[in-house]
Amino acid sequence: MKTVRILSIEHATPNVMHVRTEKPDGISYLPGQAVDVAVDEVGWTTELRPFTFTSLPSDDFLEFFIKTYPEHNGVTDEISKLSTKNSLLIGDVFGDIQYKGEGVFIAGGAGITPFIAIMKDVDQRNGIRNNKLIFANNTASDIIENEFFSILLGKNFTNVLSKEQTEKYEYGYITKEIIESQIQGADSYFYLCGPPPMMDAVLKELKELGIEESKIIKEEY
Ligand SMILES: Cc1cc2nc3c(=O)[nH]c(=O)nc-3n(C[C@H](O)[C@H](O)[C@H](O)COP(=O)(O)OP(=O)(O)OC[C@H]3O[C@@H](n4cnc5c(N)ncnc54)[C@H](O)[C@@H]3O)c2cc1C
Repeated sequence: MKTVRILSIEHATPNVMHVRTEKPDGISYLPGQAVDVAVDEVGWTTELRPFTFTSLPSDDFLEFFIKTYPEHNGVTDEISKLSTKNSLLIGDVFGDIQYKGEGVFIAGGAGITPFIAIMKDVDQRNGIRNNKLIFANNTASDIIENEFFSILLGKNFTNVLSKEQTEKYEYGYITKEIIESQIQGADSYFYLCGPPPMMDAVLKELKELGIEESKIIKEEY
């Protein structure tokens, strides 16, 4: 485990912390990958939890968006209490979500994190082109990096809110019709990341749309 000082920590949404830390020597990761993280405080150093890098490997800092669950009294609650006086411990890097080609990204809540890194990387390499994002959240204030994705994707950014009705965004859950409206061609990939109930529902919809499993890249949070 490597100790990294917290450089900045603030709320990105009411229950998500945006954290930047020092980058330890020798760390290497791919956009979309996660790392085991612990809080460097007495009683917490062996409590490892996975979080996804939203920084790029070329950045000279590490960045994370961490959704906090105060009711778990666990690591994410502890992280919400930290400041720049504290440090994190960084362990093993892992994770399978990688960019394979243009497609539709479908995320729920904190499941957006691998797509932040992947889309930044794709944009730097080839331009974002026709990649699309469908992002499910409870309310508009829960949308992580709303401005970043709005600027990057324009009309290819679809928000779906389950607990707030607005004129701007879709209301309810991600439906087959919403996914279908974003599909471009038979070659399109589908990148999926979110909580288990959302993953199950969207996988069922993709199956009903006749999407081959080889075109689906997924990770459960
Ligand atoms: C590969 C990977 C990458 C990830 N990347 C990110 C990321 O970038 N950002 C992010 O925000 N999250 C990410 N996650 C999810 C994150 O790891 C978990 O939210 C975190 O481990 C929760 O830690 P905790 O100690 O607060 O909760 P824990 O105590 O570890 O709770 C874990 C699970 O236990 C259950 N649980 C425990 N207590 C309660 C309770 N009181 N009520 C209800 N349910 C309960 C819930 O199912 C909960 O999800 C990722 C997960 C994976 C697998």
